[in-house]
Amino acid sequence: MSTVYLVVPCYNEEQVLPETGKRLIEKMEELVNLGLADEKSRILLVNDGSKDKTWDLITELHKQNKYVCGLKLSRNRGHQNAVLAGLMTARQYCDCAISLDADLQDDIDVINQFLEKFNEGCDIVYGVRNKRDTDTFFKRSTAQGFYKIMNALGVEVVYNHADYRLMSKRALDALSEYKEVNLFLRGIVPTIGYKTATVFYDRHERFAGESKYPLKKMLALAFDGITSFSVKPIRLISGLGVIIAILSVIGLLYALISKLVGMAVSGWTAIVASIWLLGGIQLLCLGVCGEYIGKIYSEVKARPKYFIDEFLQQ
Ligand code: UDP
Ligand code: MG
Repeated sequence: MSTVYLVVPCYNEEQVLPETGKRLIEKMEELVNLGLADEKSRILLVNDGSKDKTWDLITELHKQNKYVCGLKLSRNRGHQNAVLAGLMTARQYCDCAISLDADLQDDIDVINQFLEKFNEGCDIVYGVRNKRDTDTFFKRSTAQGFYKIMNALGVEVVYNHADYRLMSKRALDALSEYKEVNLFLRGIVPTIGYKTATVFYDRHERFAGESKYPLKKMLALAFDGITSFSVKPIRLISGLGVIIAILSVIGLLYALISKLVGMAVSGWTAIVASIWLLGGIQLLCLGVCGEYIGKIYSEVKARPKYFIDEFLQQ
């Protein structure tokens, strides 16, 4: 039997935590009864600097039930860091850890299948959504666009997989070797290798509270994903630069020849248009380069990703 840790990042989740706690405890008891998890298994609730009663509720659940542990980060560090903090803590005690969201949008009944795959020798099991009909049209189309861009850039991401996955102790040890500060787990995990499997599930609606992933955070995550894994945008810019340079030489020759043969030079429209076009492209290029420089800046500083304030352990 294996020690299983369920790692749950929680940010302002007071509305869902009582129900989530109840359901996860039931699930854990079921897993233990089925012999899929042993008595040392735990539900690790990670408080990501919540401003509401989340930590009080976690403390309460910890007192009430032997399976519940709590981890309090010193402040809000974002979903990816909260998951990592939980996984890296779990790593010290578990045989495998499963990360899932506090709102239980991910169907917890497939955890049994995750563990069956793990027992068959898989180190990483991805939870993949069957369909995205519980998402808004906007979220669905932006997500699709994101996967397309990632694919075009040659980054390996599992389609329709969020951060619902199982990782073995060995895979977690490998994950701990990655030192990058700009964390995009969905991109990093596939680069670990080892034997992987996929389990399909239906994603439910959030049963209470609101999404903690507003558009701004979603865009930041997508941008991190792209720039952390691919330098293709920079190469694209170099290519664009070459093409524009060639075009401008042709344009220049045309202007010179028309002047020499005494034809009227082209009107100001062309000049103004080219100034705007080039200005725009230059700004775009500068922006993308700046993005990478910013990335280098934060990677070089190698600041710690999180601090643990408190650890409620049983
Ligand atoms: N979350 C977090 N820190 C944050 C934002 C979100 O730990 O800064 C957690 C949140 O509590 C939830 C999970 O990340 O457990 C996913 O967030 P949410 O369900 O709001 O995202 P959505 O499902 O809408 O993409
Ligand atoms: Mg959610």
